[in-house]
Amino acid sequence: MKTEITRACPFCGAAGEQLQVLHDLGDFTSGAAVCCDSCGAIGPSDDSSARAVALWNGAALQALGKGVPA
Ligand SMILES: [Zn+2]
Repeated sequence: MKTEITRACPFCGAAGEQLQVLHDLGDFTSGAAVCCDSCGAIGPSDDSSARAVALWNGAALQALGKGVPA
């Protein structure tokens, strides 16, 4: 099952190819995390890239719920 990035960046609104899953982020984390090429935001990391995407989707949703302008 493929997990796709369904949420735009909650900080700058970027979506699509500007959001990508990065691996081996060096000192930051040894797992995978969704990163925004537009503003440099890094989502929650997880050993599983699919789960990192799921966390991003959830985290972005949470941030939007806190009133971040779309
Ligand atoms: Zn962004």
